[in-house]
Amino acid sequence: MSVERLTELIQDRRPCVVLTGAGISTESGIPDFRSPTGVWAKYDPQEYATIDAFLADPAKVWEFYGRRLAMLGAAEPNDGHRVLAELEERGWVRAVITQNIDRLHERAGSRALVEVHGSIRTASCLSCGAVATFDEVVELLPVPACPACGRILKPDVVLFGELLPEAAIARATQLATQAGLMLVVGSSLEVYPVAGLPLETLAAGGALAIVNRGATPFHSRASVTIDSAAGETLRALADALPERA
Ligand SMILES: [Zn+2]
Repeated sequence: MSVERLTELIQDRRPCVVLTGAGISTESGIPDFRSPTGVWAKYDPQEYATIDAFLADPAKVWEFYGRRLAMLGAAEPNDGHRVLAELEERGWVRAVITQNIDRLHERAGSRALVEVHGSIRTASCLSCGAVATFDEVVELLPVPACPACGRILKPDVVLFGELLPEAAIARATQLATQAGLMLVVGSSLEVYPVAGLPLETLAAGGALAIVNRGATPFHSRASVTIDSAAGETLRALADALPERA
């Protein structure tokens, strides 16, 4: 029933912009952050994921990120990622905004993609600006130093205490404002400013749909909420929609 309602919404309220969080990647075997078995239950983010921690002891932060890179590099996109790429190709999805840094949307084929928390695609030198690719960083582990000047590289993901990439958040806000429907997938909408994007859509007269395991602070304002796994829900949606928008 809820998938039927979501199918109607996507057809009636175009364009659809999708906002994804950790919940879409758990089906690829990537642990989320905030659940009892999540990343932050094992690693205190204050010690391993803040910009201050990085500046004070970058090698320690790389102990954590090095393991994460190995795990993320080995993960494969799942049906949720694949369906969103397919729906973009079929004209139903205008863009995907993601909080994830894992590159799985890109690898699944999404083209209009806004990575508001950065990505593991590259790491950069804060001294000379040199940029190393994912594969180069993996070669340089456990503590990747800048090939040009020797300073320890910083992963190009947004650490706690850092501002979000300005161009990405500006683009995400624009997409949210123009969306007839914002479809949230696998995000508990707790981390600002990204959690404020649905408000932009609602304020501009758009509708909100949420596919997430568990409630969010925005459930009461959503036109439809589906509490189930992203992959199977999105696959059912893709099957129910006409081939082309
Ligand atoms: Zn350098």
